Amino acid sequence: PRWAIAWKYPAEEVPTRLLGLTVQVGRTGALTPVAELAPVRLAGTTVTRATLHNGDRLAVLDVHLGDTVIVRKAGEIIPEVVRVLPELRPAAALPARLPAQCPECSTPVVQPMGEAVTRCPNPHCPAVLRGKIEHWASRDALAIDGLGQKLVHQLVARNEVRSPSDLYRLERDTLRTLERMGAKSADNLLAAIARSKQQPWERVLYGLGIRHVGKTVARQLASVFGSWQELAQVESAAIATVPGIGSEIAQAVVAWFTDPQNQGEMQALESLGVAVSGQSFGPRLGPLAGKTFVITGTLPTLTREEAIAQIEGAGGKVTTSVSKKTDFVVVGEAPGSKLTKAQQLGIPLLDEASLRAQLP
Ligand SMILES: [Zn+2]
Repeated sequence: PRWAIAWKYPAEEVPTRLLGLTVQVGRTGALTPVAELAPVRLAGTTVTRATLHNGDRLAVLDVHLGDTVIVRKAGEIIPEVVRVLPELRPAAALPARLPAQCPECSTPVVQPMGEAVTRCPNPHCPAVLRGKIEHWASRDALAIDGLGQKLVHQLVARNEVRSPSDLYRLERDTLRTLERMGAKSADNLLAAIARSKQQPWERVLYGLGIRHVGKTVARQLASVFGSWQELAQVESAAIATVPGIGSEIAQAVVAWFTDPQNQGEMQALESLGVAVSGQSFGPRLGPLAGKTFVITGTLPTLTREEAIAQIEGAGGKVTTSVSKKTDFVVVGEAPGSKLTKAQQLGIPLLDEASLRAQLP
């Protein structure tokens, strides 16, 4: 019968009182309002906190301090506030809103147009730095045993660690000055940090915490792009041809790897012995194997994505900028400065027809 198919185990929902609001700042700078609740039993556990997701949701739910709220736990997700009961609101209750300044660093927060999330824009915000280091050390990333939240908190607060590469510069004497850090724990931690250098490139890529690059995307990228240098010079359209990777992700990856500060960090990691490259699919096969192409202008029939897919399918590589290493520049209508550069360097030019002639 129909009811048997439609029936789902209902998420458990209970009412409780909102005692206060705290705000967490994550590694992306996103501010998450967290409801502090009068303890309540929910799905077999006692719940004292629940997420309110973001500032927009706070406003939509019209949450007031002292409100009676309905809390829900569904599946593995942390409890969330699903609605409030305004009829039970105490008189003169104040609306709960996100602060105008970051609770960690006092920088005025921003909410980009069209986004629900409010962020601290300060890249040096201690909460953001802590979040990045914790992510780097997490089990699915570099898996650094013993580098927990409290330790990261201390290292960031003391300015000892401001980026992942700083971890690999830590010395025993510095660690010994931290709270509850004996000689043995310091040595264990240093050993764990050193071991993490052997983690594969895909984990490093995930650990960098690039927007939209989760574990699966990192694995996909690492299997196609063997090093960070490759990712720093490839066209975003070429990244978008990797299965499962859309143009939004591709653009985020390119933006990250072309940022000079991030490039400095990658160089630092590399010089400290962290695996910033790995085994890609290896030398590509096909008639264009070993050849590097640059595309400029609009081609008559092929879109940029199609052209890249065809070149790569034939074993070639497509990069963004023309250099002495470029073998061919494919020129379409309204070409840019890449054409001028190619002419200066004397690099052979192809139109779409002559490109097609080289394809299998
Ligand atoms: Zn901040």
